[in-house]
Amino acid sequence: MLPPDRIKLHEYYFRPFLSQAVIQERVTELGNELNARLAAGNPSFVIMLKGAFIFAADLLRASRLGGEVSFVRTSSYVGTETGGEVKLLLPPEESLVRDKDVVLVEDIVDSGLTMQAFLPKLRELGPRSVTLVTLLHKPEAQRADIPVDLVGFTIPPKFVVGYGLDYDGLGRHLPALYQLEETY
Ligand code: 5GP
Repeated sequence: MLPPDRIKLHEYYFRPFLSQAVIQERVTELGNELNARLAAGNPSFVIMLKGAFIFAADLLRASRLGGEVSFVRTSSYVGTETGGEVKLLLPPEESLVRDKDVVLVEDIVDSGLTMQAFLPKLRELGPRSVTLVTLLHKPEAQRADIPVDLVGFTIPPKFVVGYGLDYDGLGRHLPALYQLEETY
């Protein structure tokens, strides 16, 4: 079924951006790529809440990799400068990181400041390797140099919702991705 042309979340309108079919095709490719990289390893999926939960569920099945699953949650980035603080609301489980080939699953790398703050905390726990997979990447907005290993889609620096990503708690259930409309 085609997504409705336009949706409204609170007072903002969003347009269809990436269809469910396009997303699923790319997630299948990412899963195959992860399988090729890590089938011989000791994978452990670490999933960033909340936005990555739907992407991670599809990616895990597409990868056909076994391995543990755990969840982490950070606070929103506080401050606008690099070096600002990201609090661990749900920290990583050490036993699921130490000596593991961690697949860190993120919804979107925007400024990169969240990952810049989080990656050292993950590395402190002694993973064997870290593969950072993000569904979306906005390189034009990036302010910290983040080693992203696998990117689903490189997108312009516009706000998107759907497929797990929200606007103020709304829109996570949408099977496609929508982009904020700038003119009304
Ligand atoms: P960063 O620290 O890279 O600037 O931001 C990362 C986090 O900001 C993402 O995990 C996500 O929660 C949120 N974020 C950044 N851009 C968007 C966007 O376009 N839409 C939504 N829904 N969240 C975003």
